[in-house]
Amino acid sequence: MEGQNLFSISFDSEEDLECIIEGRPWLFRKFLILFDRLRSPMERDQICLNSSPYWIHIGPCPPELDRKDLLHAIGCTFGGVLRSEISDDLCRLRVNLDVQKPLRRAYALHNDYREFYRKLWRSDIPGKIKIFIWKLSWNYLSTQVNLHCRKIAPNGVCLRCQNGEETMNHLFRDCLVSIAVWRELEGSFTCLCTASEFLVRTFCITLWAIWGDRNSRIHDKTNRSSKEMVNFVHGYIKELDGVKSGQQITSQKLMKW
Ligand SMILES: [Zn+2]
Repeated sequence: MEGQNLFSISFDSEEDLECIIEGRPWLFRKFLILFDRLRSPMERDQICLNSSPYWIHIGPCPPELDRKDLLHAIGCTFGGVLRSEISDDLCRLRVNLDVQKPLRRAYALHNDYREFYRKLWRSDIPGKIKIFIWKLSWNYLSTQVNLHCRKIAPNGVCLRCQNGEETMNHLFRDCLVSIAVWRELEGSFTCLCTASEFLVRTFCITLWAIWGDRNSRIHDKTNRSSKEMVNFVHGYIKELDGVKSGQQITSQKLMKW
């Protein structure tokens, strides 16, 4: 024992050691145990265990999305892909996760989100919105925080309210503008896994509308009210349904003809 919560383990065989290292991360009674290989003697306070390789399973990938774009997006999000395996429409990526940061639910590491994605790909919304949601879930949108990380923006402050950093959660959930939109919709940011396909569709279109409004506010200095945005969402859904029923009528007519 090297101290509280820090242990050194020596292995008799290199094979056993490789097995433990390859199997990372390890869980014990819901606690994450971090392993790293000590290649040379080191002072205890110099040992820094704050990241661990993780396998992330992705799939099925939307057909509209280029695999290379996807890998690039994920690589940027996690600071690089250690290893990737692609077979048919499934991808598996090994990334190094910073365990000091809370795992964002939107990273879709949980199985619960598989159902959400299944509904998303099946749902009746344009491909551009599906790709937008996909990018959002991988934190690949050009938020102020992400631009700041890439040294493109001087800071990560939200340009809509100037009151906090523009992270994904702030942008879509906590910013006053977004709060007003969700309130107007009487929706909830958390109703994902069990939501009906209709709710998933409304939810995704609302996120897309918030992002569009955010961009217009910043670049065109427009100022839509939450009511206007919600009307836009409802109008957009009606328009989609209109196109769909229009297609059905046309096909019925064709059948008759
Ligand atoms: Zn804000």
